[in-house]
Amino acid sequence: MVTATFRFYEELNDFLAPGQRRNEFACSCARAATTKHMIEALGVPHTEVELVLVNGESVGFDRLLKDGDRVAVFPRFEMLDITPLLRVRDYPLRVTRFIADAHLGGLAHLLRMAGFDTLYDNNFQDREIEVIAARDQRIVLTRDRELLKRRSITHGCYVRALRSTQQLGEMFNRLDLGRSARPFTLCLECNTPLRAIDKAQVQLRVPPDVRERFERFSTCDACERVFWEGSHWRRMRALLDEIMAEG
Ligand SMILES: [Zn+2]
Repeated sequence: MVTATFRFYEELNDFLAPGQRRNEFACSCARAATTKHMIEALGVPHTEVELVLVNGESVGFDRLLKDGDRVAVFPRFEMLDITPLLRVRDYPLRVTRFIADAHLGGLAHLLRMAGFDTLYDNNFQDREIEVIAARDQRIVLTRDRELLKRRSITHGCYVRALRSTQQLGEMFNRLDLGRSARPFTLCLECNTPLRAIDKAQVQLRVPPDVRERFERFSTCDACERVFWEGSHWRRMRALLDEIMAEG
């Protein structure tokens, strides 16, 4: 029988049973259990983990646990520089793009507004999300930790906040999105890149008062919607400015 000692740090404790939080605890492991297997068996999705130390040494998710091992599990570090240590996931995704689960439509909309390619459909099944994420190298966004435990999902984020505007701030902080945001470059409805369009060409596609009050327009070639810098745009701009100032 293999018994290892575990200690989880920072917000990873939220996933544990109450008696296991913020304390070292011993746990008997299944035969040939890996670090990933045990971390997930204790309730923590592997996508939330940035670093695992076994007996003080950085290891991968495939490390087999031995009797007496001491396992320390860390989330993404905000402050502490851990670059000298090997991380469990040593390749960042080159382009930040997302797929949001069926409950995160509001967040998906806001991420598109900030310019991040985000797939969303309220009919997405877990299996589809898994397949699309692997195919397109997308980061999975969800409040369902079981989804994040799926094997082929390598990059995912458990979203903690409940309101979409707070969720957007959470994602900006956690993934350091401020530097790569390109606000108002994607269609909010269908995630397609927008292109600027001449005012003359929108004459028949927007209400007369909009035509009078605004000079700059952009359009989506997929759904043919036209966007302008109206009150919705100003509210969204203010929200983004606030989030980016915090980051
Ligand atoms: Zn569109």
